[in-house]
Amino acid sequence: MKRFIFLGPPGAGKGTQADFLSKKLSIEHISTGELLRQEIAAKTTSGEKARLFVESGDLVPDEIVIEILKDHISKIRGAGYILDGFPRNTAQAQSLEEHEIGVDKVILFDIDKETVIKRLSGRLYCPACKKFYHEEYRPPKEDTLCDNCHRALIRRKDDDPESIENRIRVYLEQTHPLIKYYEEQGKLEHIDANKEVDVINQELLERIGR
Ligand SMILES: [Zn+2]
Repeated sequence: MKRFIFLGPPGAGKGTQADFLSKKLSIEHISTGELLRQEIAAKTTSGEKARLFVESGDLVPDEIVIEILKDHISKIRGAGYILDGFPRNTAQAQSLEEHEIGVDKVILFDIDKETVIKRLSGRLYCPACKKFYHEEYRPPKEDTLCDNCHRALIRRKDDDPESIENRIRVYLEQTHPLIKYYEEQGKLEHIDANKEVDVINQELLERIGR
């Protein structure tokens, strides 16, 4: 099994890199947010528990997230997984260990605040397809319309510069101790996420020893 955690602020390109690596190594990219949505939609026992919190606008408690993760991981047939979106703090990392959800390497996507703001503030979003475009890096074929469904693309409220700064601050506060935690275990690898996507692809493969 190859087991990774991807850490990085919003806009660091974790999702794109996780998709790349999961194809390359035939491992599963587990985005916790996405997994929760699937469980809720499928009305599984844990999904129903999670739904109560999501519907009242609360965070889903760690115990429920772990239960869902553990169950999901036990069914994985591939060669491993990448956790994306969990853990976000040291307590969550410890509870992964308590539940014997193993991690071999933690990839930290280092990125400057300015780069994040530039990337996120240019994002355009299709609410129907849940797909992101970018004014500069991934423009839609027709100006401000979704390639798939031709609806008007929107800018999400959390992508305005003030919200972005706030999200980065929250990320740094929570993640700093978590980074130390994995550093002390000797599992941490840094990636310079300011670079171009294909340069990061290569760097990622080097960091994991491929
Ligand atoms: Zn669309």
